[in-house]
Formats: sequence, structure tokens, C-alpha cells
Amino acid sequence: MALIVQKFGGSSVADAESVKRVAKRIVETRRAGNDVVVAVSAMGDTTDELLDLAAECTPIPAPRELDMLLTAGERISMALLAMTIKGMGLEALSFTGSQAGMITTAEHGAAKIVDVTPGRVREALDQGAIAIVAGFQGFSRDSRDITTLGRGGSDTTAVALAAALGADVCEIYTDVDGIFTTDPRVVPLARKIDAITAEEMLELAASGAKVLHLRAVEYARRHGVVLHVRSSFSDEPGTIVYDPEKGHPKGEQVEEPIITGIAAEKSEAKITVGGVPDVPGKSAQIFEIVAKTHANVDMIVQNVSAAQTNRTDISFTIPLADGRRVIEALEAERDDLQFESLQYDDQIAKIAVVGAGMRTSTGVSAQLFRTLFEAGINIEMISTSEIRISVVTRADLMDKAVKVLHTAFGLDADTEATVYAGTGR
Ligand code: ASP
Ligand code: MG
Repeated sequence: MALIVQKFGGSSVADAESVKRVAKRIVETRRAGNDVVVAVSAMGDTTDELLDLAAECTPIPAPRELDMLLTAGERISMALLAMTIKGMGLEALSFTGSQAGMITTAEHGAAKIVDVTPGRVREALDQGAIAIVAGFQGFSRDSRDITTLGRGGSDTTAVALAAALGADVCEIYTDVDGIFTTDPRVVPLARKIDAITAEEMLELAASGAKVLHLRAVEYARRHGVVLHVRSSFSDEPGTIVYDPEKGHPKGEQVEEPIITGIAAEKSEAKITVGGVPDVPGKSAQIFEIVAKTHANVDMIVQNVSAAQTNRTDISFTIPLADGRRVIEALEAERDDLQFESLQYDDQIAKIAVVGAGMRTSTGVSAQLFRTLFEAGINIEMISTSEIRISVVTRADLMDKAVKVLHTAFGLDADTEATVYAGTGR
């Protein structure tokens, strides 16, 4: 008997019909002789709707109350799912995050899991029941309050449960047939990937691929949880996220593809500090100021300094939401930093090309740059890791850039991908 954790996202439980469809799948998994634990997200766009509602009531909702409000979303779907399964004749019990032992830090809206004590979930399984756990939420022992893990956090709930329970697999059900070479909503000829290394998935998730939450991929990798991403709308085999040290899931001797996938996002802004005196310590000063705003810096580029002036430009990207704060913080230190100009640009996109085979092949960046050049797309920044090349372009050229790169790197499929529901978030 295997223990399977299944996670169903909002678009998989958007209405009563979908709840019934998902319940059927859970029941089938149980009837096949497995223990089943389910993590579920709020129905459809519930979380966004609750956020809008809060914003209509008050401009800056208290974080504690906002978490109380948002966690109600997952409570609705977990209860509906449990009663539907019971109606189908199987035992099912729903649990809030706190009942399921998801112990977190106290930071509202961005809590981190510090411990998982799934005693009640175990008991439910021992009694032969299916356990349905509310995703995205937890409980802080310090504040004794209900917390949320950050948007998209239900994936992390599922992975944390799978790790704590020693599950055989964590199945992430979504509204496409698995992980694709790029978002099939943008490139219909995106190809489904059968198996992807955790390392590549991490790079893709960190670069804006929405199919899996970054923290969930990190958690899975750290705890050795096997992830299986598949559609709740079809019986297609999906994608396995695996650890290459433990071998390919199908035991195949596969050569790592040079390019596995392409991710893109528009959620960052670019700041350019112009005319910075090129003396030791300036970068340290600038990024210490940025760090104090808690903005997470992504790419950084520093130019060579102009010979006459001995001044240089430093550009970097940060999340859009932090843009204003960072600009204000730098502006406040203008006299000390002695820069000449400060530019803020929120019309950028970041495109990342990822592949483990990049380690051992040459010419990938040349091909990438040439492809964008031939499509008339200017590159504004470049950064690389061992298995990733990222570039910044104008935001309105993002989809075009992804399309031409997808074709240039031979990733196009013969037929169009099926998108069953949702918006890809
Ligand atoms: N319902 C939450 C959100 O929309 C958590 C999730 O879907 O994973 O962000
Ligand atoms: Mg959601």
C-alpha cells in the first residue's frame, strides 16, 4: 500500500462540478488500495476575490485579519471535498492547517514552515479515512495565530505533508497535462516534459514558471520528495520531477537536453544608479541600502567606468512591488552615495532559458542572442548560472521573445497543448 499526497489547485476545484470530479479521482486512488492525503487550494479565484473585498473595506488591511480572511477560502474547498467524498461512500475528514500540524513562523502573509506534526492526519489514515488538508495555511506557536504561506502556497503544504508523512509521491494536480517547455498559454506548441530534474525545475520556477511554486520545489528537493505534476482534467501521465542522483524515474539512460524549458515574467523592475564614483565600497553601500528595504535583488550589472570621469553605472532588478521603496531609500542617501542619476523602469521582462545540458555544450548564449537580434528584440541585461541564461527585454516583447526562442531551440511540438482551465497563476 502506497501513501500518496495529492494537491488540487484552485482551478481544479472552481465549482461544484469540479469538486465532484476531483472527489472521484481521490476516491479512485483510495479504492486502488492507497492511503490518500489531499491538500487543496481555495476554489477558483476565491483568494483574489477575498483580497479585493478586503481592499474595498479598508486601504491597508491588518495582516492578522487578512490571514483570517484568506484562510477561509481553503476551508470552504476542504469541507466541500470531504463531504463529497463521504457522499460517495468513503470516509473523509477535513483539517485546517493548524489541525494538520502545519507549524509556521509568525509572519502573516509570508509564513515559513518550521515543523509539521501531522498526528491527526495519521490518525485519520489509520482509521481508513482520506485526510483533506487546507493548503496555504498554518499556525504560529509564537503568536498563537493563523498564518498563510504566501500566494500559491498550497503546493508547499502538499510537499511538507508528503515529507512529514514519508509519502511515496506528491502529486500536484493542475489545469494542464504537466510541466511544459514553456507556458502553453503563451506558446500553444509548448511540449510536455516527461521528466525534469529538480535543479532545472528550481531554475524555471525561480524564473517565473508558475506551474510549481518555487518554495515547494525547494522543499521537495531538500526532503527528497518525488513530485508528479499532472492534470486533474485528464488521465495523461504528467511530469515527474526527479533527483538525477537517484536515477531517471523510468530507468532510462537519457542524455540531458541542452535546453529543457523557457520561463518568463514581468514581475520585476530595473533600477539604474548612474554615474557612481568607481571607488571601492560603492556597491557595498548601494546594496546595503537595498537590503535594508528587504527587497530581493535578482540581476546586477555594473559597467566599466568611463575613463574621463571614473564613474560607472550600476543596474539591478528587484520585484516590482518593492520598486518605490528602493528608489526612496536610494534617493535619501544621494549625498552619501554621490551618484549622478537614478532611473526606474517597470516596463521590463525577464526571460530565462534553462537546461542541464548547458553545462557541457557551447554556443548556447550565442544562439540565444542571435535569435533575439533577428527578431528585433534588444537585450538590456544578461545573467547566467551553470544551467540558465536570463535576459531582460522590453515587457511588450516578452511573448514574442519566448516564441522565437522556443522555436530556435527546437522545442516546438507538432500539436498544440491542451489548456483545460485557469489562467496559469
Ligand atoms: N489560494 C492560495 C492562492 O491563491 C493558495 C494557492 O492557491 O496555492 O494563492
Ligand atoms: Mg489559488
